[in-house]
Amino acid sequence: MLEVIDIHKDYEQTPLLKGVSMHVAQGETVCLLGPSGSGKSTLLRIIAGLEPQKAGQVCWEGKDISYVPVHKRCFGLMFQDYALFPHRSVAENVGFGLRMQGIGQEELEQRVTEALAQVDLAAFAQRRVTELSGGEQQRVALARALAPRPRLLMLDEPLGALDRALRTELLQELRRLLHASQIPALYVTHDQEEAFSIADRLILLHEGRVVQEGKPDDVYLHPASSWVAHFLGMENFLPGEVMDAAGGRVMTALGEFVTTEALCQPLAAGDLVQLLLRPGGLRLAPVDGELNLFVGIVEDVLFQGAMYQIVVRCAGDRRFHFNVDQPLPLGKDLALYFDPDSISCLR
Ligand code: ADP
Repeated sequence: MLEVIDIHKDYEQTPLLKGVSMHVAQGETVCLLGPSGSGKSTLLRIIAGLEPQKAGQVCWEGKDISYVPVHKRCFGLMFQDYALFPHRSVAENVGFGLRMQGIGQEELEQRVTEALAQVDLAAFAQRRVTELSGGEQQRVALARALAPRPRLLMLDEPLGALDRALRTELLQELRRLLHASQIPALYVTHDQEEAFSIADRLILLHEGRVVQEGKPDDVYLHPASSWVAHFLGMENFLPGEVMDAAGGRVMTALGEFVTTEALCQPLAAGDLVQLLLRPGGLRLAPVDGELNLFVGIVEDVLFQGAMYQIVVRCAGDRRFHFNVDQPLPLGKDLALYFDPDSISCLR
């Protein structure tokens, strides 16, 4: 399907995309996730043909389409600012692109009907877009992108302007729609939650490079670096120095820790790392041995429905958030053990 190979792009002599490669397969929703300014929109515009790349190729089914103009790529685009014509009807808005393509009236009407049905707006065809809610307008924009039957749909922060409750609802709907239509989609967002809800596969972009790619749960469970873990909103970092790479042993200010995951990483003794302690890995029961043991004080307890989150203050004023089944008294001194399977060792 879509394959992007080693794309480079500068903006005012500064490298913006530094060798990005990625692909989107049939029926797959791929989410391009990264902080603002990481180059996501620029990459999307290059794929769409709205901007030329400095180097690299954009391929469709194995053919280089880098020099194919926008309208011949048959890619649908939907932006945050969906720019509907306010004084035209829903049907006129959806049919606009088709009319520009010179499609005959009969087929145009059929395609508009089909696209509106896909987004559950069949009954709204004759309404003015100004009479619709934000969410409905967003669906009109989606119908407009779907009407020309694109072979790839690209969405750039499509829900950016809506409030959170509506976003959650529309995300679920969008996911259902994309899967039902089997149109491959490339979805750009800076919002981690949005990306995790919609993506079959995530591509994380940071400073113009792909820093990690994979299924949402794999990325979450195995962040490739401490930057990724921070960006995904994880907490509980503990800096340390690798003592024994093969054995996964790391010395920290709180004592020596062993992690099972360090074994998977190309680390050497003396490397400086960040241990990521997962909130569920804390054990309160006393354990024999010397590794993964530390002490702390319960500083806060937060009720979170299915469990409690405790804030533990350790030596050096380090604070960690852990999940526990039972609330603990504030100020309680704790002797703690941390499960080696719940520690990631990151650079
Ligand atoms: P993202 O979509 O990840 O927020 P963009 O691809 O929009 O990132 O842009 C990345 C950076 O490139 C911006 O922060 C900006 O500095 C620069 N840039 C690219 N194109 C333009 C432009 N046309 N005008 C101003 N800045 C631009």
